Amino acid sequence: MRPFAFARPADAAEAVRTVAGDSDAVFLAGGTNLVDHLKLGVARPGLVVDVRTLTSREVADTGDGGLRVGAAVTNSELAADRRVRERYPVLAQALLAGASGQLRNMATIGGNPLQRTRCVYFQDVTVPCNKREPGTGCSAVGGYVRYHAILGVPQAPEASAPETCIATHPSDMAVALVALDARAQVLGPQDAREIPFEQLYRLPGDDPSRDTVLEHGDLITAIDLPPLPAGARSAYRKVRDRASYAFALVSVAAVLNVTDGRVTDVRLALGGVAHKPWRAARAEEALRGGPATVDAFRAAAEAELAAAKPQAGLDGGNGFKVPLAIRTLVAVLRELTAET
Ligand SMILES: Cc1cc2nc3c(=O)[nH]c(=O)nc-3n(C[C@H](O)[C@H](O)[C@H](O)COP(=O)(O)OP(=O)(O)OC[C@H]3O[C@@H](n4cnc5c(N)ncnc54)[C@H](O)[C@@H]3O)c2cc1C
Ligand code: SF4
Repeated sequence: MRPFAFARPADAAEAVRTVAGDSDAVFLAGGTNLVDHLKLGVARPGLVVDVRTLTSREVADTGDGGLRVGAAVTNSELAADRRVRERYPVLAQALLAGASGQLRNMATIGGNPLQRTRCVYFQDVTVPCNKREPGTGCSAVGGYVRYHAILGVPQAPEASAPETCIATHPSDMAVALVALDARAQVLGPQDAREIPFEQLYRLPGDDPSRDTVLEHGDLITAIDLPPLPAGARSAYRKVRDRASYAFALVSVAAVLNVTDGRVTDVRLALGGVAHKPWRAARAEEALRGGPATVDAFRAAAEAELAAAKPQAGLDGGNGFKVPLAIRTLVAVLRELTAET
């Protein structure tokens, strides 16, 4: 047990000041990820700042027909909200595809998108990991890569390079939020600002330890869901090693509008394939304005996955994810164009 101090500030602004002023401090929400990391020694903070009661636990209608979700709303509450089930099925489905009922009752909308990778080497403090300890190397290269990235990675990453990381982002909800063009409301030490989810996450670049563009002390206070165009249909599909309680090998979040057999609007994101929820911009571009046919869906999916760089590994590598992602993307688009 490594001792740490615990604080319950009076409000969100005080929490932000407290964490921003102490490089050894972290926020705690539902604790379903952070507490595991405290036990494993992956996180070793000197101060834990409880924010669970400091942000809203409401899902509120916004003037433009969207929703504002307070950061303290639980995953279970959001998945059960009738407005979310009716207007944003992709989000309700993504939430219900994650973890277990008990975990979803604790996990929060602020904490879920900021959970850390499930890379087994990241969680094992006895082996090198650039994300956990910058500059030590990446144990995943050539190791067990079934859950690792195929997009946004170099052709042959070097295990010893300080910038190498082939981990994937584990949040299901974040994939749906990227496809929905959702925005995070962030309170920082200097200002409050809004960050589109698509811009919140980052590729490893030269610093794999950073998953997002957030600075130390930035607190997510709410998430805004913009209204979808009239007639839009949406869905989330997650492919995993077992039917529940497993992270995505590949997942697809899709929002689709079809008028007179042609795609008028489409937004696609992939999970389980990259360091961040992957916006499938090439597939969107290929589909927009074209026919809503299976052939067009397949061509668009293949265009997106053309940039994939599967990794070799002790477990046979993760090349299987390329056809899996193509098939899953096509299947979701077919589902969304099926007669109801
Ligand atoms: C066995 C198991 C299976 C799981 N399966 C899945 C799955 O299939 N899909 C999935 O998506 N998730 C899964 N999860 C992860 C789970 O959904 C996350 O742990 C949870 O959503 C995190 O939310 P939390 O409120 O508990 O965050 P915490 O654990 O409290 O915090 C997570 C991180 O976010 C930071 N943080 C928390 N709130 C804020 C905020 N408002 N602003 C800024 N920073 C903040 C914390 O400092 C910490 O770094 C699983 C977890 C477990 C243990
Ligand atoms: S893939 Fe990333 S998280 Fe996993 S061992 Fe390599 S550097 Fe660490």
